[in-house]
Amino acid sequence: SRSLQFAVFGHPIAHSLSPQIHQAFAQQFGIALDYRTIDAAPEAFAGDVQHFFADAAARGANVTLPHKSAAFALAQEHSRAATRAGTANVLTRLADGRLTAHNTDGDALVRDLTDRHGLDLRGHDTLLLGAGGAARAVAWSLFEAGVQTLTIVNRSPEAADALADAIGEPARVHTRYWEDLAGIGSFDLIVNATSAGTLGQALTLPFSLVGSRAVCYDLGYGKAAFGFLAWARAAQALHAYDGLGMLVEQAADAFEVWHGKRPDTEPVYQSLRVHGA
Ligand code: NDP
Repeated sequence: SRSLQFAVFGHPIAHSLSPQIHQAFAQQFGIALDYRTIDAAPEAFAGDVQHFFADAAARGANVTLPHKSAAFALAQEHSRAATRAGTANVLTRLADGRLTAHNTDGDALVRDLTDRHGLDLRGHDTLLLGAGGAARAVAWSLFEAGVQTLTIVNRSPEAADALADAIGEPARVHTRYWEDLAGIGSFDLIVNATSAGTLGQALTLPFSLVGSRAVCYDLGYGKAAFGFLAWARAAQALHAYDGLGMLVEQAADAFEVWHGKRPDTEPVYQSLRVHGA
């Protein structure tokens, strides 16, 4: 019988680490699977997903930029995490053929911060830069993980306001304008969930944002995170982390959904780190 089929959809997708991560997890359990990248232009995404799941051996797919909203819309069932983010990074075919959408990004970030990097989020005044698909997942999970305050700042302020309104805890979650960043004080945790680095655009951020014990985290990794992490170090942040750990953690959650087994993420993370991801 053929191996179970998995894929990650994105555009571009050629350099995705997801195939390598899922194969490494599968090896931990002696599971044989096919996991491939599918480069889908936005107008082709829905058809390509349908085609992929038409194969009886297809079980699940990861979804990344720019398809996470489209993936959410394609599914007939949605997890709580996907519903509140309005985006999905995991599609799974149910036994009856319907697709269910899930979002593992937010919990993955929190697990990377707390379990891998040893941070206790409680009591942290947190700044979230961005209000796109990833930021929406991350905001909810940071809030639930107990950060003291969450300040959301987005280039287009409407998206930040909509996100804060959706969480609906004005005493702890509020928004500020990007133009005012120099005057809003300092934070203990700064999360960059913008795609500026991925797009090769520079963010201009004042050093005054970085509190004396601040942890700075970029959801991107590799070249995409260089600019923000260099800024954090120049501002003397206590720690500056990229999103590689989050990437491995979100994959682990997807793997568990599909295989019912929890992989050990640490050796996979270490090996990607050593090999220069
Ligand atoms: P979206 O396209 O949904 O959102 C992009 C966000 O970035 C918006 O808030 C947008 O603001 C903002 N932005 C883009 N360019 C700039 C700029 N030049 N200056 C300021 N703000 C800018 O992307 P996603 O939310 O899906 O992804 C965001 C990033 O997170 C990507 O780099 C992605 O690779 C990374 N990511 C990493 C994961 C991991 O596992 N490590 C998981 C998920 C995402 P506006 O609304 O004004 O356009």
